[in-house]
Amino acid sequence: MTNFNLPIRPRRLRHTPAMRRMVRETHLSPADFIYPIFVRHGEGIRQPIPSMPGIAQLSVDEAVTEAGKAAALGVPAVILFGIPAEKDPIGLENFAADGIVQQATRAIKQAHPDLLVVTDVCLCEYTDHGHCGIVHGEEITNDETLEVLQRVALSHARAGADIVAPSGMMDGMVSAIRSKLDEYNYTGVSILSYAVKYASSYYGSFRDAADGAPKFGDRKTHQMDYGNTREARREVALDLAEGADMIMVKPALAYLDIIRQTREQCDVPVAAYNVSGEYAMVKAAAEKGWLEEKSGAGNVDRHQTRRRRHHSDLPCARCGALAWIKTVQKAKLARQFPKT
Ligand code: ZN
Repeated sequence: MTNFNLPIRPRRLRHTPAMRRMVRETHLSPADFIYPIFVRHGEGIRQPIPSMPGIAQLSVDEAVTEAGKAAALGVPAVILFGIPAEKDPIGLENFAADGIVQQATRAIKQAHPDLLVVTDVCLCEYTDHGHCGIVHGEEITNDETLEVLQRVALSHARAGADIVAPSGMMDGMVSAIRSKLDEYNYTGVSILSYAVKYASSYYGSFRDAADGAPKFGDRKTHQMDYGNTREARREVALDLAEGADMIMVKPALAYLDIIRQTREQCDVPVAAYNVSGEYAMVKAAAEKGWLEEKSGAGNVDRHQTRRRRHHSDLPCARCGALAWIKTVQKAKLARQFPKT
């Protein structure tokens, strides 16, 4: 047998599972995740979402139980999305003291005080037209919407939210919310801004989940065009200047370049949203037997790890299913991800 003259052989470090484990560069743990929950009115309700197998709309009592399971797995935060009892042009329940998200926030914080509650701040789940802002004719107005966002964020803070997450891509949303929170002495409530949110058909299943599809038109006058990267920089810079504590990039998988660009642009935590469509794709392919959902070579772990490699600090698991986070937990990984 001839030994070729190859003093450098990268395969040496892949020889055994222990060796591969030792030299692995990127690690995931449940502490890296934010777990999304859809809350609705009622009691004892788990209303399955057809396009997201394994995920359900939950009544407040069930949401408290689900949040407890996430906390027990080591997940530090949940993010709440509300399905109101009734919809109207403004979305009045969105800022009502007894609105569904406000109720769920209070109940979860009472049952699990150490678990962080993040709340989605947008209009689309609450408005009868399904748009992210106040609509005149077919126009989504910006500044009028900001006043509603201020009221929503304030009511979430009053209910006990630790972090508010404006997702509607309105100009000035971060500064409007920050000034309102500060005016009422909620200076400790953080803002996780969806600074970089692209218009995407990956959100289809979410609209199923939250009953938030627009009744006319689309979201392209506020969400970003998928062809743009410099615009993402501008949005990030603006939101940081307005006082965002953390930045979200959404969707995740199709925008790994943007996640990395954002990580390199700023020093605040960067979250990446693994959206409903990304979850649905893996689920659908697994159902057909075209890929394995959770195995060691599985896609769940890989999707999340890939985002981590692209330097997102907080993979926001739209994937939602606790089973997926359990998969990650099984790996029992603890090493710190190196900062760039
Ligand atoms: Zn919206």
